[in-house]
Formats: sequence, structure tokens, C-alpha cells
Amino acid sequence: MLSYLHAFHAGNFADVHKHAALTLAIAMMQAKPSAIACFDTHAGSARYDLTDMRARKTAEADNGIQRLWRQRARLASPDWQPMLALLTQLNPTPGSLTVYPGSPAWLAELARPVDTVTAFELHPNEGRQLQDWAVASGVRVLCQDGLKGLLTQLPPAQPRLAVLVDPSYEVKTEYRHVADTLARAWKKCRHGVYLVWYPILTSGLEQGLLSALANGPVRKVLRSEVRLHEAPGRGMVGSGMLVVNPPWTFDQRFAAMMADLQDAEGPWLSATQDWLVPE
Ligand code: SAM
Repeated sequence: MLSYLHAFHAGNFADVHKHAALTLAIAMMQAKPSAIACFDTHAGSARYDLTDMRARKTAEADNGIQRLWRQRARLASPDWQPMLALLTQLNPTPGSLTVYPGSPAWLAELARPVDTVTAFELHPNEGRQLQDWAVASGVRVLCQDGLKGLLTQLPPAQPRLAVLVDPSYEVKTEYRHVADTLARAWKKCRHGVYLVWYPILTSGLEQGLLSALANGPVRKVLRSEVRLHEAPGRGMVGSGMLVVNPPWTFDQRFAAMMADLQDAEGPWLSATQDWLVPE
């Protein structure tokens, strides 16, 4: 089943949470010169037009990146800068934000010449568009299952590894599948930094992923969650990120970024952070 299209949700509060974690983790890993193999298991598109019919139908970016963008001068943490720099580059007209990058574009932008980026995308149309975009970006696009595909690529040739796992969770079994894949990937590359996104749902389905990881072999799993102040009565009420092997002090720096989000234009998101699995 591949009915999910990220164009309806691009730039929402969950994207802000996820892409903030991704940009901080990569920037911190790049404090060392050694090469990083970056993998994006569920890539989606490289760029989203926030004025297009699909984005406007849900208007999710209005309560996501647009809110952050209006508050950008007041963000206390300097760690927003890499994100703001790419958004400014893609949106040169002062004031308006109409183009939002997807995860493969964030990775392509952040990657240094020594780093590599591999993006998996299973949806045929999304995959084709991504392949067209990738010609100029240096990203390797594989139109195949990202969880199975990741396991075939590990351990990477490069000394370090960063993986973003961002499924659409259209199928209930995906929560369990992500936990199993993470455990298998970690056994192949224990020093890798793995970032896993999950929705916080009124149904609590994400607990399947969290309890499988809490009881599994993977160590050092940081959990960051943000919850909407004005949440819908059902469906997604928050966004969760797990970061396996976060760089040293990532937890403090990411908490500071999330603290900036709590009150952008009045109560917006509440953030919590803890270790799902300690070292
Ligand atoms: N990571 C993107 C970002 O942050 O901009 C958003 C990705 S979206 C949540 C999930 C994407 O995964 C969709 O484009 C969907 O077509 C794709 N997808 C679904 N199942 C997949 C699978 N098994 N392997 C690879 N991609 C898959």
C-alpha cells in the first residue's frame, strides 16, 4: 500500500522536529573530518511547493515551518542556523517561504565532498522525480524498499554512518518492522547514528516500536517528543524522534532547540526528552 504522499504534510510541525534533529546530528558529526555514509530509507521528494494544492489542502505547514520562519529572528539556539541558511537559499524573496526541502535535499545540502548520500524511495512517481533531481545533486537514489535496502548496504565503506528512518507507517506492522530492522542494522554497524521518526497517536500504536526497542539489543537511544498544544481529538498529536548513538552533547543542544519551539507566537509545542535506552 503506497497511498501516502508527503506533499500533503511537508513542512508540518513533525518535519520541523525531524529536520532539526537531522541537521544538528549531521553538523555535529561533521566536527570530525572522517567521511560519513548517509542513508535516507524513506526519502519522499527533494522539494515541496508549499503553495501547491496538496499542501494548501491540509495547510499543515502553517502550524509548522511557517510559524518557525516568522519567529526565526527570536530563536535563541545557534543550532537553527544550518536549517535557516538552506531555507533562505531556497526562498530568496524576503518574507515568504514557499519552497520546503525534503530529507534528501537536507542531506545533499549538508554533505561534504567526502560524504555520500543514498536515498531509498518505493513510490514509483516519487522515485522517478527523485532520480531526475538527483542527477545534479550527487545523491544515489534506489527505488526499492528502504528497510531491506539499508541492511544490504551495511556496514558502509566510509568510517562513519548516519541513517534517517522516516516511514509513513501506513501499515500497523511497520512499527515492529522498524524496530527489527534497527536491531539488525545496529548489529552490522554499532557505531552508526540512527535517527528514527514516529508519530505520537491517540491510538498509541507507536508504543509497539518503543517497547520493542526498549526491550531489544540496541543501546544508547535518546527519545525526543513534541506534542501539539492544540491537538486534534484523534490521529497524530505529536512527533517523536529516536536518536541512537547521538553525538556527544547532542541531547543538550537539541533540548535547547526544542525549548525555542514551545512558545513561538504563543503556546505551540511542548517538548520532552529522555533516554529510552541508556548506554
Ligand atoms: N523523509 C521525508 C522527509 O523528511 O522529507 C518524508 C518521507 S515520507 C514520511 C515517507 C516516504 O516513504 C513516502 O514518500 C513513501 O512513498 C515512502 N515509502 C513508503 N514505504 C516505503 C518503503 N518500504 N521503502 C522506501 N520508501 C517507502
